[in-house]
Amino acid sequence: MKNFSFRERLALLQKEIEKSASRAGQNPENIVLVVITKGVEVSRIREAWGAGIRVIGENRVQEAAEKFAVLSGQSDLEWHLIGHLQRNKVKVAIKFFDFIQSLDSWELAQEINRRAGEQGKIQDCLVEVNISGESQKYGLAPGQLNEFLSSMEILKNVRVQGLMAIGPLRENPEEVRPYFRQMRQMFTDCGRRANELREMRYLSLGMSADFRIAIEEGANMIRVGNFLFGERIQSDLASRVDNDQETG
Ligand SMILES: *Cc1c(COP(=O)(O)O)cnc(C)c1O
Repeated sequence: MKNFSFRERLALLQKEIEKSASRAGQNPENIVLVVITKGVEVSRIREAWGAGIRVIGENRVQEAAEKFAVLSGQSDLEWHLIGHLQRNKVKVAIKFFDFIQSLDSWELAQEINRRAGEQGKIQDCLVEVNISGESQKYGLAPGQLNEFLSSMEILKNVRVQGLMAIGPLRENPEEVRPYFRQMRQMFTDCGRRANELREMRYLSLGMSADFRIAIEEGANMIRVGNFLFGERIQSDLASRVDNDQETG
């Protein structure tokens, strides 16, 4: 089977984003694509940068720190942490992550606040919600969110910019829709009570398997790795790329 270049995959992804956005009555330009580069070597990240990608996500601090050190030529990259952050890694994480999407406990928030204060930084974060209630997942329970956001007001070096969630793994991505819908509702509710230290700007939902549904349900940030970097690309998508090329 044909190997698709990064640019071809990106073009295909952008078309899919446009389709979903138009179904949702959204402007596709308002949807932030976070390209997930965990496990992806630096040369391919450079290739993505060359294709115009400026926002990337990593799930491990150590791996990200090593890549950050060699990607200084791509200094306009915006780095997002998407994986669980241990408290003893906070100091390093704050040095280069522009966004911490995985703020998932009060203890972590306090540590981020302390370390960001030391470095003279206001750390942008998204609050991770465990929307599926699965015990192996990180994130606040939906019922804890309001109190958590209120308590953020005393942490002056943490700036909450929205919410993040990982949908439950389902063979049929349609089954993830009610969870995303619930996230959208919470996002809207929290937005009504937003202030300077917690603006509700971003709703980060959706990965390769379910970004279309996330966008349809109102996400304005998606996190896509496999679709762009994975070994295999679904055959229906592959045939669409071929058709596009044939018809110019
Ligand atoms: C890996 C990961 C993604 C991207 O998943 P793909 O299936 O590779 O698109 C998105 N969000 C989180 C939190 C991840 O860990």
